[in-house]
Amino acid sequence: MKKRYNKTKSLRKRIRALFFCVLILMSSIIITNRYTQSDSEKTKEVQSYSEIKQGNRNENLVNVVYESSSDNNDLVANSKNNNIKRENGGEVVNSVDEDSNSFDCGKIQDFLTKNIRIEDNKKIAFLTFDDGPSTTVTPRILNILKENNVKATFFIVGKQLEEAPEAKNILLETYKQGNAIANHTYSHNYSKLYPHGIVDVNNFMAEVEQNNHILKAVLGENFNTKVIRYPGGHASWKGTEGLDKKLEDKNYKYIDWNALIGDAEGGAKTKDQLIKRYHQTFIGQEKVVLLMHDTYGKQSTAEALPYIIGDLKSKGYEFRTLK
Ligand SMILES: [Zn+2]
Repeated sequence: MKKRYNKTKSLRKRIRALFFCVLILMSSIIITNRYTQSDSEKTKEVQSYSEIKQGNRNENLVNVVYESSSDNNDLVANSKNNNIKRENGGEVVNSVDEDSNSFDCGKIQDFLTKNIRIEDNKKIAFLTFDDGPSTTVTPRILNILKENNVKATFFIVGKQLEEAPEAKNILLETYKQGNAIANHTYSHNYSKLYPHGIVDVNNFMAEVEQNNHILKAVLGENFNTKVIRYPGGHASWKGTEGLDKKLEDKNYKYIDWNALIGDAEGGAKTKDQLIKRYHQTFIGQEKVVLLMHDTYGKQSTAEALPYIIGDLKSKGYEFRTLK
């Protein structure tokens, strides 16, 4: 009787031990799973910032997803030799000043805001891309520009370069391809640049210089740009006079736009919606500065671009960059 009782007791013990083992095994599987998941989440960082349209404070939240990135800075390291060759219609040039494809941005801004005509009777299109570079959209835009032998001006936000290291190589590629690189401040942060909607001259200038510093670190000490675009556009803010004066003293020039594709208006847009907006705002201006965005989530901008370039070409426009 006692023997039988002992046997049952030892069987129970074994079952209990087995149950315990299974429990430990299952817990460890769950923990491992969770860890892997949180690790992969770390490769994506979601951030948002708003974009204001020209003269219209209609803020829209844009989700900016930074993809995981490798630390491949080879190209950037090479740029430290300060002698980056740029393509210019087959020619190779050493700096933006030698680039015969670039056009004085001050004259274009005078045309935009003061209606001062440029007497060259030329139809010129300035394609402009803001808020990049992104690792997702900018490479697609660069390919399209290359295929069409067209150069554009890219308004860079320095923060993007620090948050996705491979974006530095994309910036370098953008520059080498003969496009112009311009300054769109370091953070694009409205509450820092324009607290309560009023320009903070010191904060803005500090961000311009900070951004310049980052651009030089990637493109070489010889790189220089004097072209600035106010995040949100010059017309959206109060107290711009003080900053305009400061920029002029430092030989900077700012540029707005006179046509857009609506890729920062409201939520995500389809290619057809962007093309429709382009036709609403491009009404045959002799000099057209077209506002577009190459930041994260703007895939449809890349999809609409071949049509836009084709349309401008068919209407006799040449494509220049801003300096
Ligand atoms: Zn912007």
